[in-house]
Amino acid sequence: MKSILLIHTGGTISMQVQANTGAVVPAENNPLIMEGEKLKQLANIIEIEAFNLPSPHITPKEMLVLKKLIEQYIEEHSIEGVVITHGTDTLEETAYFLDLTLDTSIPIVLTGAMRSSNEIGSDGLYNLMSAVKVACSDDAKDKGVLVVLNDEIHTAENVTKTHASNVSTFQSPQYGPIGFISKAIVHFHHSPNHRNVLPIQHISKRVALFKVYAGMDPDLLAASIQLGYEGIVLEGLGQGNVPPSLTPIIHDILKKDIPIVLVSRCFNGIAQDVYGYVGGGKRLKEEGVLFAHGLNGQKARLALLIALHHTDPKSAMNSIFSII
Ligand code: ASP
Repeated sequence: MKSILLIHTGGTISMQVQANTGAVVPAENNPLIMEGEKLKQLANIIEIEAFNLPSPHITPKEMLVLKKLIEQYIEEHSIEGVVITHGTDTLEETAYFLDLTLDTSIPIVLTGAMRSSNEIGSDGLYNLMSAVKVACSDDAKDKGVLVVLNDEIHTAENVTKTHASNVSTFQSPQYGPIGFISKAIVHFHHSPNHRNVLPIQHISKRVALFKVYAGMDPDLLAASIQLGYEGIVLEGLGQGNVPPSLTPIIHDILKKDIPIVLVSRCFNGIAQDVYGYVGGGKRLKEEGVLFAHGLNGQKARLALLIALHHTDPKSAMNSIFSII
């Protein structure tokens, strides 16, 4: 049997619904910890509770704690895989943070639940058992950080939460899952073709994320620079365009050597330098705007944040944003 590190961080998977109020709240004792017997049939589980936080309370600081914890266990306990239980709201962000910062070939799998532990149709234990099965699979090695829910295996880079409440919420728009779990097998039908790993030991910088919209004024962008933000991510329009009202402030920000990364606010397709009108992607690229092809805004924000902490931020940014 493989040795799997199981890290709990909180989220609906560790919560219960209160009979009197109907509110879903963190359980005093994590209900998953009582499921040890079922998990022991799958792997030799080393279980720790890193946090008991709803995932809207998770920040890059907690993500960094998880990264260091995993490195420590890999070094000291020769574990062969890691499973992390996490709230689904920001699960994709923690998964992508770990994907970009952990230099390991062992499977790292995140999972969560859309229904808390005592609700009818609760998906927590099922997803947890699926995640452990994936973490035990030799085929899951060297695939980067994976997200497993609802019988599907997704890459951290492509997966996103697409539905507020449905159990099939995690999808990889445009790319699809890279594998599935059935009663009998864990099967990978695709493999990621590249991986970027950047070392990071601390987090102190701030990166702002803005969704671009018709008629957007430049004042909030300007204010973010005055407030000391060190990088900006724009979820631009279509193939990567912004309204002309933003072009002067974009010019000013880049002149200050503050990086701007552009993604598309469309959930399919990639931002590219196509249009040559004022605010068009071609002009933005000429100005020095970086394009994060295919990442969503929240992941591009993490990528820029991590790159800014690199000893050579420019080359880190180039390596991340040129190949994604
Ligand atoms: N709000 C919850 C959280 O992210 C949702 C969930 O876990 O599914 O913690």
